[in-house]
Amino acid sequence: MQALKMIVDAEKILQERFKEFEAVAYSNQIKVLESFRKYRVRENCFAPTSGYGYGDMGRDTLEEIYADIFRSEDALVRGQIVSGTHAIAACLFGLLRPGDELLSLTGTPYDTLANIIGIGASPPNGCLIERGIDYREASLTKNGQVDLEQIASAVTSSTKMVLIQRSRGYSLRQSLNVEQIKNIIDTVKQVNQQAIVMVDNCYGEFTGTSEPIEAGADIIAGSLIKNPGGGLALSGGYAAGKKELIEAVASHITAPGLGKELGSSLASIRGFYQGLFMAPHTVLQALKGSALISYLFEQYNYEVYPRWNENRGDIVQIIKLNSPENVLKFCQVIQEFSPVDSDVLLEYADMPGYTDQIVMAAGTFVQGSSIELSCDAPLRAPYCVFLQGGLTYEHVRYVAKHLLEKFIFAE
Ligand SMILES: *Cc1c(COP(=O)(O)O)cnc(C)c1O
Repeated sequence: MQALKMIVDAEKILQERFKEFEAVAYSNQIKVLESFRKYRVRENCFAPTSGYGYGDMGRDTLEEIYADIFRSEDALVRGQIVSGTHAIAACLFGLLRPGDELLSLTGTPYDTLANIIGIGASPPNGCLIERGIDYREASLTKNGQVDLEQIASAVTSSTKMVLIQRSRGYSLRQSLNVEQIKNIIDTVKQVNQQAIVMVDNCYGEFTGTSEPIEAGADIIAGSLIKNPGGGLALSGGYAAGKKELIEAVASHITAPGLGKELGSSLASIRGFYQGLFMAPHTVLQALKGSALISYLFEQYNYEVYPRWNENRGDIVQIIKLNSPENVLKFCQVIQEFSPVDSDVLLEYADMPGYTDQIVMAAGTFVQGSSIELSCDAPLRAPYCVFLQGGLTYEHVRYVAKHLLEKFIFAE
């Protein structure tokens, strides 16, 4: 029981860190609950609707609650948004017009977004660049940090929109907390007050006590099968921000003139509510699990990002494993100790929207849900795994034991 003893010892060190995470979760739980009270959520909010979905009270109330929690003027929260990528794409396509300039402030965006923009190896039809949108990037510093000086000189008066990615994506740069996002936004606004500031908020929700709108972002977007769905949302995405921006995004998702008024809730709305209610706690489970695995692997001289006691703006944990075989082995342990598909054998494969082959361990109740314990990696150097989620800390703890046995205590 060498591995379990390692974990018990680790938890003694991690105690204070866990308390910090718990304080954040408590604050967010209150925020969410008070919002549910303010908008008087009732059983009939959970009733499915059909057809056009005119006057869908459950949907409209949920959107008011999202706007309230994110401190934004308005929000769009829909099961019809098929993923986080779709939510972000809807913001970009809804807000940018030919001739406009989009500037990424956090280096090259997440793989699926690179496709939307049209900077991947084989840009798909209909990408932003093909539609006449100019795209530029402010690069990161040599050691992969956001470069405020670069940003100040990259933003110009003709920049229509800037994109800030909060989470690291498949890169080793730091995730950004809301304070760091505020520094970036202040820098942008000093040069160009008018630029629309968009934050890709994927994996960041509820990891701190405030959200990017409070730091000055104009619009944020994310996935409901990540943090804010709390593991109970069956699909969906959201955008929150200024009223006129959300209206433009809704017009893109439905049609100009239809906007937010249409879109029935089908049967998924109860999970959206209950998942949001659970989300602060679920994110806590994920944060504790990530910190545990980070600490354990660091003890055995693996490079980990972030370290257990470092600032975290998302739930993602990176462990650098140095070879495709190790990555596959790591992911296989996650898969093998999952509640669903535990007997599946993983391999690298092509995935829609990704340039490199990907391996994904996701023995999840909701397909591809990465607020559930999951682990993925692109087939490229430096061969890192990107681990995230965990509906219960106990699950992650048990998996950590098996990871130790496979990687550390195996001869
Ligand atoms: C997950 C993620 C997205 C969206 O991915 P989907 O799988 O489409 O939900 C976008 N940006 C970042 C940084 C992400 O982590």
